Amino acid sequence: MSDRYDFVVIGGGSGGIAAARRAAFYGARVLLLEAARIGGTCVNVGCVPKKVMWNTSRIAEMLQDSTEYGFDVANQGFDWAVIKRARDRYIQRLNEIYHRGLRESDVDKIEGHARFTDNRAVEVDGQRFRAHHILIATGGSPQVPDIPGAELGITSDGFFELEHRPQSMAIVGAGYIAAELAGVCNALGCKTTLVLRKEQLLRSFDATLRETLLEEMECTGISVLTRVDLHSTEQADNGRLLLRHRNGEAIGAFECVLWAIGRLPNTADLGLENTDIATDDAGFVITDGYQNSNVEGVYAVGDVSGRRALTPVAIAAGRALADRLFGGKPDATLDYENVPSVVFSHPPIGTVGLTEDEACEQFGRGMVKIYQSRFTNMYYSVLRRTAPTVVKLVTVGERERIVGCHIIGDFADEIIQGFAVAVKMGARKRDFDNTVAIHPTAAEELVTLR
Ligand code: FAD
Ligand code: NDP
Repeated sequence: MSDRYDFVVIGGGSGGIAAARRAAFYGARVLLLEAARIGGTCVNVGCVPKKVMWNTSRIAEMLQDSTEYGFDVANQGFDWAVIKRARDRYIQRLNEIYHRGLRESDVDKIEGHARFTDNRAVEVDGQRFRAHHILIATGGSPQVPDIPGAELGITSDGFFELEHRPQSMAIVGAGYIAAELAGVCNALGCKTTLVLRKEQLLRSFDATLRETLLEEMECTGISVLTRVDLHSTEQADNGRLLLRHRNGEAIGAFECVLWAIGRLPNTADLGLENTDIATDDAGFVITDGYQNSNVEGVYAVGDVSGRRALTPVAIAAGRALADRLFGGKPDATLDYENVPSVVFSHPPIGTVGLTEDEACEQFGRGMVKIYQSRFTNMYYSVLRRTAPTVVKLVTVGERERIVGCHIIGDFADEIIQGFAVAVKMGARKRDFDNTVAIHPTAAEELVTLR
């Protein structure tokens, strides 16, 4: 049993690395335990490869547009394997950068699967470590439905292993991953079907955003099936996959079925049964506003804590924790309000703050005033193809404090960050009006709303 560390971090993903390096910066002796590839979900099977594929799919659209802009460009086809290799090389470079970063920060690292042996100790590879502070930052894994034949499908992890573009793909799910990968596949020429169990995609988002996106998906050729109650998946004689509705109806056939129905926390094999650490019914570690679990000296950040499952959230929570434990900042904590987020759909969504429905519920409909505009980005002025942009402000009270800012349209992914600062600062509609527009842009519509 070794006591030589102040801080043992389980999980070398976004949250774990951020916490480990920040703690080491303050002089803490830190050990990081990682079972798989350094960098975690975001780097290896999340944000990074996804964004590369989204960029690829945007290029496909622009190539299509280029002739109408006067370019004599012949699109000779698309080789999925080329971008897959380039993407893998990029991720390898990032893995090396993370290893180097940990070395330079004096964080010790052991590769292996860690398990708690009691409230205070963790075991990895036959070695046992005891520390005053132990952080659980083990993230999550894709969920697969509990239906016969589910193993015939892949998840987002498998998507990033595909060596060629499937001819056809059914994506089952209604969240970020379903929205993003459906857009990528469709734009890259894969016949794409989105399978929803309810009526809506991105149900927790502002209705304007989700309705606009769903309409646009259908306009661009994605086949959207709603109210599908799946019973099973089967493989036909020709190898193609069928989805079977509970009413017996078959949907398909598809070359590939992708489950995008949410993620579960990586706590099942963490030895929590040897501890008093409390989890909720789904297995997420229960934490308070300071990332404390119910066991003193044990904390959780990132996806495993069941809050907003976003990389910058995991990083910010990890850093705040290290600031509090080792940096002499006893009040350091992450404020989970007004966390901005982007869905890299086609077109992308940028959103921060309350939806219209949430604002009405919180403040009363009479207190809420909506400003909204729908227009076509000038990019499409010379094209036959078009895509909508919608900007929406949710304001509250006579002073019209902006409690929600929602954008769907090209560049929403980049526009929202700056507006999120304003919302976080408590900006009022008047502050937006007093800001001179930048012309001609899509973003200017947000400061000229009437
Ligand atoms: P992770 O990054 O998952 O890291 C956890 C680490 O712990 C893993 O490396 C795992 O191997 C390790 N581990 C688990 N159990 C053990 C154990 N017992 N012992 C040792 N090690 C263990 N977020 C965004 O903000 N923007 C995006 O665009 C975005 N895109 C995404 C796209 C996809 C397809 C997916 C799946 C996710 C995406 N996310 C995105 C979410 C983001 O990736 C996660 O919120 C983020 O990675 C969470 O970080 P984390 O540190 O909590 O966990
Ligand atoms: P999400 O939690 O976003 O969405 C999953 C949705 O799938 C559920 O909300 C549910 O919607 C639907 N669903 C659940 N079970 C079933 C089922 N059995 N059959 C059919 N549909 C089902 O999960 P994701 O996997 O998309 O992503 C996980 C998290 O990762 C996200 O929440 C996000 O935090 C993060 N992420 C962030 C990204 C970004 O920042 N751009 C990109 C990708 C992921 P309903 O109840 O309406 O049917």
